[in-house]
Amino acid sequence: MKKLKVGVIGVGHLGRLHASIYTQIPEAELIGVFDTDVHRCNEVAAEFNTKAFSNPDELISRVQGMSIVVPTTFHHEVATNVLNSGVHCLIEKPITSTIEEANDLIKTAEAKNAIIQIGHIERFNPAIVALNGIDLDPMFVESHRLASFNPRGTDVAVVLDLMIHDIDIILSLVKSPVRQIDASGVAVITNEVDIANARIQFENGAVANVTASRISQKKMRKMRLFQKNAYISIDFLQKFSEIYRLVDSDSKEGAAFGIPVEFGDNQQGRKIIYEKPPVEEGNALKMELASFIEAIKTNSEPAVSGEQGKEALRVAIEITQMIKEQLQTLGIE
Ligand code: NAD
Repeated sequence: MKKLKVGVIGVGHLGRLHASIYTQIPEAELIGVFDTDVHRCNEVAAEFNTKAFSNPDELISRVQGMSIVVPTTFHHEVATNVLNSGVHCLIEKPITSTIEEANDLIKTAEAKNAIIQIGHIERFNPAIVALNGIDLDPMFVESHRLASFNPRGTDVAVVLDLMIHDIDIILSLVKSPVRQIDASGVAVITNEVDIANARIQFENGAVANVTASRISQKKMRKMRLFQKNAYISIDFLQKFSEIYRLVDSDSKEGAAFGIPVEFGDNQQGRKIIYEKPPVEEGNALKMELASFIEAIKTNSEPAVSGEQGKEALRVAIEITQMIKEQLQTLGIE
């Protein structure tokens, strides 16, 4: 098997994990890492027995795929340089800081025939993967992503840091253009919005009510989907999903996932079945990077495209702006 040569630019907290995972993927060969922090670069390279490059262009010239794991404000600059050499990029989320930058990156990738995949890692959460093959068409979504305070990532509003994970998942499930957004939130501990709620309405009538907080005592990452004849609960933290479905009482459906729990017949001769799809244990980052390698090898559409990353950013920016304007109007920004 011919291994695909890869590198990592930016080996801080998350970039170190990218480097580590590439050494565990049989189809990949980690050629080296680059970081503007020379000490950090040498440290991570030594840990994973790879080369610490002192010049990013030297690393770029030796690889076919690159993880870009620098702070978001530098995504555009660093990824543009990599894409200009025709090297495929896995760019951590959010794609960029602005829509203009995202558009520019997408254009450069197209011109250079290079793939960009965005690191919306929750797409690879085993709870979501377990729902593959299930007919999902949610008309009402309720999601909560609550985290305890951690100074990391607090230079941006909680919407761009945490809520964007759920925005991306919801956009991938609803598959309809956004019609209207209402949002509110407040800055409690940091100077940016720490807790936020958004109501996203879609053109097909679906509504998503999304809450994100980084100042909660207890962690929670749950999404609940309601659709015709079904309720699906996704627990990103505990990594499992549950499905409750209304079926004809003589239906044998549900048995495929084990023993269905029946809640009894109702007047229409129907019953609710409970299913817990089997979850395959797996490291989401490993699955994400393996899918990036696969997309390069097969020249196929990546799991999360630049356009999808841009759309999640667009919604997140709109929510953030809306909250900021409200707070300014109230004089409590
Ligand atoms: P970090 O600060 O720990 O690491 C960033 C590293 O990039 C640092 O080592 C820094 O020296 C280096 N760097 C800065 N500018 C550079 C440049 N121009 N060239 C090369 N190296 C440079 O940050 P982090 O927490 O690892 O976050 C990195 C990215 O990953 C951010 O975009 C962040 O939003 C994203 N992230 C995504 C998730 C997720 O769940 N997918 C989680 C955390 C962070």
